[in-house]
Amino acid sequence: DAAGNTGTSVFGPSKKLPKGLVIGKDGKPCRTCNSLSDFRAHAGKAPKAAAASFGPPSDCPPDVEQLGRSSWTLLHSIAATYPKIPTPVEQSQAQQFMGLFSKLYPCWVCAEDFQEFMVKNKVRTESRDEFGQWMCEAHNDVNRKLGKKEFDCSKWEERWRTGWKD
Ligand code: FAD
Repeated sequence: DAAGNTGTSVFGPSKKLPKGLVIGKDGKPCRTCNSLSDFRAHAGKAPKAAAASFGPPSDCPPDVEQLGRSSWTLLHSIAATYPKIPTPVEQSQAQQFMGLFSKLYPCWVCAEDFQEFMVKNKVRTESRDEFGQWMCEAHNDVNRKLGKKEFDCSKWEERWRTGWKD
């Protein structure tokens, strides 16, 4: 998971607390880079498996998972409402948005890997379908990293735009 990252960042070499929690630039455990269950397990409040059954309360700052789910919802929804035939200006705006998003993403270890993915896999904004497919592939790259099941990208539009065909 996020805590497994060993790269470097704008904050210097990534530092980890003994139990593998990722820390932020303030030197404290990074809430948006770790899951709440990792925090709870680290604090000795519950074993990881038991702690995993609790998510953060809805009115508390997000952990890495809640932030991720909300962010993917936004990203796939942006692709779903992107024009089928975008103008050069719309394409440029989508490119700029993704570039800035990857720089500002609040989980810094996630952001670094996403930037790396974007260097190797240029954002495709020539059409809604290309943008949606690219987003799905980007999400699958994270799914693979986290050991999650890959999503069938031929279904991205049903999941995020039209709803499932019966
Ligand atoms: P999510 O992966 O959040 O997916 C939400 C829903 O999207 C799923 O229920 C499914 O219906 C749909 N979906 C799944 N895959 C696809 C796909 N390929 N295309 C279209 N729809 C799909 N977490 C870490 O721990 N470490 C990281 O390095 C990390 N990097 C991230 C980078 C980015 C840019 C983002 C946005 C998130 C990152 N996350 C990372 C969070 C992680 O991807 C998940 O959001 C989080 O673990 C919660 O996962 P989830 O199983 O609830 O579903």
